[in-house]
Amino acid sequence: MTTSTQLPVIIVGGGLSGLAAAALLAQAGYPVKLFEQASAPGGRARTSQQNGFFFNQGAHALSLQGPGTQLLAELGVHYSGSEPMRTGSLAIEGGKLYPLPINVALMLETRLLSFAAKAELSPLFARFKLAKVAELHHVSLQGWLTAHVKHPQVHQFLLAGARLASYSNAPDLLSVALLPSLLNTRLLYLDGGWQTLVDGLQRKALEAGAEIKTQARVRAVEVAGERYSVQLADGSSHVASAVLLATDPRTASTLVQDGTHEALHRWATQAIPAYTACLDIALRHLPKAERIFAIGIDRPLYYSVHSATARLAPEGSALVHIMRYLHPDESPEPETTRQEMEALMDLLQPGWRAEVVAQFFLPHMIASNAIVQAQFGGLLGRPGPAVPGLPHLYVAGDWVGPQGTLADACFASASSATQLIIADLSRQQSASLASIAE
Ligand SMILES: Cc1cc2nc3c(=O)[nH]c(=O)nc-3n(C[C@H](O)[C@H](O)[C@H](O)COP(=O)(O)OP(=O)(O)OC[C@H]3O[C@@H](n4cnc5c(N)ncnc54)[C@H](O)[C@@H]3O)c2cc1C
Repeated sequence: MTTSTQLPVIIVGGGLSGLAAAALLAQAGYPVKLFEQASAPGGRARTSQQNGFFFNQGAHALSLQGPGTQLLAELGVHYSGSEPMRTGSLAIEGGKLYPLPINVALMLETRLLSFAAKAELSPLFARFKLAKVAELHHVSLQGWLTAHVKHPQVHQFLLAGARLASYSNAPDLLSVALLPSLLNTRLLYLDGGWQTLVDGLQRKALEAGAEIKTQARVRAVEVAGERYSVQLADGSSHVASAVLLATDPRTASTLVQDGTHEALHRWATQAIPAYTACLDIALRHLPKAERIFAIGIDRPLYYSVHSATARLAPEGSALVHIMRYLHPDESPEPETTRQEMEALMDLLQPGWRAEVVAQFFLPHMIASNAIVQAQFGGLLGRPGPAVPGLPHLYVAGDWVGPQGTLADACFASASSATQLIIADLSRQQSASLASIAE
């Protein structure tokens, strides 16, 4: 436990990572100040409401078996939702729709795959396990497919599954070790959107005494002896016992030593974000109500009606998420991407344009700040949370630490950064008590 005279821990960034860390530290009895540059906390997990629809920023699903749900339970953050329905899922190839072969019976029936492709695919799932893919951190998905898969249709099918599971379109970079756990993850679409997590975390942090300041952009974090001095864009400065940078890696690097700190600079340079284009559409009525989920096999496309499962839209209407996974090397014209996504809607939901209540197009969203790259050893090669050479300075986010991806990585890194900060501060406190006693 701490005393009220202690300097606060300062957290930069009020997305899921920063808010989770603020709640954990405050609940453990430490003084916490969180600075968020936007007008409200939540970052990429914010949900906007319009005409009774809840718009997440692109399709969001909470992994049910990861560190996230564990931490939310520990903090007492409540949410509700439902697992997506799998029946009726579709695959799109060559502009045609097929039932998505999600089990052996459907795989044997489907006309999506040739006989030779089916013959190769069925035993491959077992080989996937036997080959201990989960241990191949340094092997890229592309490298693994080239070595183990012959049929081009099987290649395409597995690439589509990997895009869906990893939110990325970079098989040349992605560590294949991620796939077994990602493909087996159960998911939850949340009632009221991810804002319920943001609000729940913020409430827990505030109830435990954390201070959360919005419209407070941090400009620099300077070392001040054993402490840190955090400079805000409004000219104010704040002394901290420890600092957690819960931002993207590029911001984290530029805030410290003008971007020249070796490890932070390297982490920022190595991180390659996973970008997606998102088209979120509210419809009065879904023309083809049975079409609720589809993935592109020959195109990096995703379609899902999240309101079919979770409470995200008024009764009888629908909230649809379309995404296009972008390769790091491509930057298509937003209008071209949008046309491709709208064409997908034309195929799946003819007549949808007459039903639109509202829509948001986000052409270049960062789904994850860093693709989990084989060349750096997969998850085990991810940086942080401690920053080498700078005691009491930590990072958290979807690019940090050896556990989980996306929001799971945020929660896992926020939790381990918090444990390190608490250990740091307890050591400091014991040392100062010992020196008083002498
Ligand atoms: C389209 C899309 C789909 C996704 N789907 C899923 C999914 O299905 N499942 C899943 O688990 N995850 C998903 N995610 C990922 C998930 O949303 C993110 O991993 C998570 O929200 C990131 O939280 P964060 O706090 O680490 O970062 P952010 O949300 O990016 O928050 C960082 C915060 O720091 C603030 N900030 C930055 N610089 C400063 C500064 N100098 N001073 C003060 N504040 C600053 C920013 O304003 C921001 O609020 C998805 C993301 C997207 C975009």
